[in-house]
Formats: sequence, C-alpha cells, structure tokens
Amino acid sequence: MSDRTVTSLTNPTVKAVRALHLRKARDETGLFVAEGLKIVTEAVETGHAPAILMYGAEANGHPLLRQAITATRAGGGEVIEVTPEILAKVSRRDNPQAVVGVFHQVFMPLEALAPSTAPCFVALHRVRDPGNLGTIVRTADAAGCGAVILVGECCDPFSVEAVRATMGSIFAVPIVRATEDAFTDWRAKWPGSVIGTLLTATVAHHEATYAKPALVFMGNEQQGLTPEMAALCDVNVKIPMRGRADSLNLSVATGVMIYAATA
Ligand code: SAM
Repeated sequence: MSDRTVTSLTNPTVKAVRALHLRKARDETGLFVAEGLKIVTEAVETGHAPAILMYGAEANGHPLLRQAITATRAGGGEVIEVTPEILAKVSRRDNPQAVVGVFHQVFMPLEALAPSTAPCFVALHRVRDPGNLGTIVRTADAAGCGAVILVGECCDPFSVEAVRATMGSIFAVPIVRATEDAFTDWRAKWPGSVIGTLLTATVAHHEATYAKPALVFMGNEQQGLTPEMAALCDVNVKIPMRGRADSLNLSVATGVMIYAATA
C-alpha cells in the first residue's frame, strides 16, 4: 500500500522529518509534523493533504489510514511504511503514534481576516508556552472563533508540542502573525469591541459589553499585556480571583474570555 518501506534511521527523508522538531528546520522548509491518525484525519477532512505520510505496520488496513493514503497521493505527497524504531525517533515519544503526517504550514495574512465571519477572534501578545498556544487554538475552534492572532514574538504554533495540544484544531482555525505595529494599525479598523485582559483592571469580565465581533486580547504568561497593548483596547477586564491564586493560567483565562464574549 505504501510507495516504499523505510527501515533505516539514516534515511534522508527520516532525517529531514526528525529535523522538523527544530524551529529552524520548520521555518526553512515551511513544514511541520502532526502525530496520530486522529490529527492526520482531521487534516485530511479539512482539505490538508500530507506532504509525507509515515505509518507503522500496526496501522495497516485501518479505514482512516486508507483515506489518508488516498488524500496524500491525490495531493502529490509520498506514503512511506516505517519501522516502530523510526516512528519512535520521529515522534520522540515512548509510546509513538502509528501514523505521522508532514504538512505545509499555513498562516493567514492579517489583511485577509474577515471580522464578519465569526462572533469572536483571539489575539495573543508574545505567548511563550506551546502547550498554552495549542490549547487556545483548540478552545478557539470549539467556540467557533474566527482566528488566533499571534502579536509580536510568539512561540511556534507548528511545534510538535503546540500541534499535539490542538488535537487537530490547528487545521481548522486560521493562524495569523502580526508585529505589534501592524496589529496596532489593523486594530483601528476593528468593527466590534477589543477587550484586553489585565490583572489590574477594575471591570469584571462578566460586567463588560462585548460588541460582536469581539476581539479578545490576552497577555504574555510572565508580564501580562504591556501598557501599550492594553491601551489599544476599548476596555480591559479582570476575571475575578476569589482565592489565593493571583492569576489564571493563560489558556484557562482565554477559554473563560472566549465564552464570555460569545455568550
Ligand atoms: N504576572 C502576569 C500579569 O501580571 O499579568 C500574569 C500573567 S497571566 C499568567 C497570563 C495572561 O492570562 C494575562 O496576561 C491575562 O491575559 C490572562 N489572565 C490570567 N488571569 C487573569 C485574570 N484573572 N483576569 C484577566 N486575565 C487574566
């Protein structure tokens, strides 16, 4: 069923796929790795054919693998059967997935965003943690958000950790990158509310008005929203902290805000 079988860890394709764990290789090639039949199926069903599809013998014959193989070939990609050792190296896991896909990264240009297409959009300022970013993309997908906008220097949404945390939503939610300056200019034309999130805000998140489409703006894990970014917002809100904890995890706070903005 495969185009070829590869058993050597020094095979050039295997080495190239392993290199995609490094941001430098992802940036240079514009490719990324997604592990597991579920995520690969999400990709295929949303029109993203793998450039390379690798699978182990244990996945052979699975109907969803057959579907992925068909999509890979139709898109001009390559289908390779590999050994468990190669799958373990490619995914760097103790319990490697039996299917690994290599895909082209897609970023939507900021100017291409259409505010009228969704009730809520999410902007993240200098997000650092790939697990947070992936979880936010998954939550944005679940809540029907129009895009996740990465403002300033952010972690890579196409790292293995981030993609894993999206559970496949990386293929469903447009990802946009913008410098602080580009975001500042673009935001001036936003037709709905821009809602910043600040621990020092005096307005509670459930008391704010969210004119649709709402643009929820979240801060960095350590510093929070900078004063310059907070000043771009129509209102800054705080999710009440009722116990000893002084803040929420970024992805949890984003989930609360997205659902408040789309209620
Ligand atoms: N030390 C940082 C600060 O002073 O903002 C904490 C940042 S917090 C861990 C990361 C981000 O999650 C914040 O920038 C904000 O966007 C959001 N966040 C966390 N807890 C929040 C809360 N109670 N109200 C509003 N936003 C919150």
